[in-house]
Formats: sequence, C-alpha cells, structure tokens
Amino acid sequence: MSGKSNVVLIKDGKRLDGRKFDELRDIKMEVGVLPRAQGSSYLEWGKNKVMAGVYGPRKLHPMFLQNPTKALVRCVYNMAPFSVEDRKRPGPDRRSVEISKICSEALDSVVLSERFPNAVIDIFVEILQADAGTRCAGLTAASMALADAGIPMKDLIASCAAGKVEGEIVLDLMKEEDNYGECDLPIAIIPRKKEFALLQMDGKLSRQEYSKALNLAMDGCLKVYEIQKQTLIDSAKVEAN
Ligand code: UDP
Repeated sequence: MSGKSNVVLIKDGKRLDGRKFDELRDIKMEVGVLPRAQGSSYLEWGKNKVMAGVYGPRKLHPMFLQNPTKALVRCVYNMAPFSVEDRKRPGPDRRSVEISKICSEALDSVVLSERFPNAVIDIFVEILQADAGTRCAGLTAASMALADAGIPMKDLIASCAAGKVEGEIVLDLMKEEDNYGECDLPIAIIPRKKEFALLQMDGKLSRQEYSKALNLAMDGCLKVYEIQKQTLIDSAKVEAN
C-alpha cells in the first residue's frame, strides 16, 4: 500500500482489469480435490490459485498442548516460492505467521471445537499463485475444506476485501491496486450470525470512507458465501448420483 505511483489504476470509471468499483473478480471453487485429506478445496479467485486441506480431528501431540474442553484449530498459510513475480523465499516468515494466526482464530470461531476434546484440527492453506487478497481467498478455501471434511461448524467463513484506490472505494483489490492503492480492508464474516471473524486495515480511510468500504466488503462476503453454498450443494448432488 504505497498510495503513490505513476501507474494509472482507474481510467474512464473502470479499473485496470475492466471491473466496476463494486465488482468481484471471477471466483471458481471445488471441494474434495485431495482424496488423502479429510476435506479439501481448490479456489481460483481472479489470478489467485489456492488449495486447502484438512487433517483431523485427531489426538493432539505433544500432550501438554491438549485442552480437555475443546480441540485446537490450527491453520498454516504458506505461499509457494513460485506464486509471486519475485520468487518468495521458501518457509515461514513474519507475514505468513501473521496470516496463519488470523486464519486460525477466524476458523476457530466457527468450528464446534468443544465436540473434540484434546484433539487438533489442522488446516493447510497453500497459495499456488498470488495476486492480492490471498488471506481472504485462503480463509474462504479453508472453511470450504472444513465443510468438505464434515467438521461440525456454526457456519462457513466468507471473506473479501475492499479498499481505496485513486480516491475511490472499490471491492476486492487485485495486485496493482493492493501495491499502489491507498488502503486495503480485508474482512471475514460468519454470515448467519452477522458477526466479524476478521477485520484488518492497511492504509488510511476517513470515517465515511471506512463505513463505505466496510459495507462494500460485507456485500462482497455475502456474494462469496452464495458461491460457497452453491459449490457444496453441487458437490453433494454429484456424490449422491
Ligand atoms: N506478495 C508478493 N510477495 C510476498 C508477499 C506478497 O509478491 O512475499 C504479493 C502477493 O501478490 C500478495 C500481495 O502482494 O497477494 C498482497 O499481499 P498482502 O500481504 O497484502 O496479503 P494478501 O492481500 O494476499 O492477503
């Protein structure tokens, strides 16, 4: 988020990729893509390509980490070295540790973890190709993988970002907008409870801009939620046939 560049991000009321201000990138989802995982999903969101896999619930080791009242919900976010233009150094870094933490917390807020005392539910999010908004895409894919695994949950997590680009409040920033725009506001919601599971902000917004961006991001989450539900319904139909 630099807010400064010579790159033209908005021309004739349209964004670099031709989208309107309140338009999402194309989203495609699939579940059950990894037969060896308990549950899995694959998500394409614009140029982002994300795979998520669930392992568990199973007994948590080492034992001192066990909680007799609930399962540990643990998410690891990893960005592949080839997922970005400038090769990313393999392995965890500050950013991936942060994103793993916020994803773990968001997913823990929907999983009925008290049903699995002393257990762990591991969720692995692999970013195969990145073009901004990967934490939102990763969270969305992770909750689909949990649903595919049949883990009991209050609801899915639906996630989307809004932000400010050349003074305009826009939905679902892509890489150039994320790099050179003025603000990015990724959120995640628990749609049925109308609760927030994630709210972060990188950059500056006035109060008015903030509420406009928040409402736009929430609308985006609800659209993502519809695609998630439809994907799960379609996959159940395929399984039944
Ligand atoms: N990015 C990159 N190299 C990195 C980290 C990020 O090129 O080591 C790019 C990548 O396209 C990512 C974008 O910068 O999606 C925005 O990163 P940010 O930290 O804002 O997270 P995101 O928007 O992906 O949740």
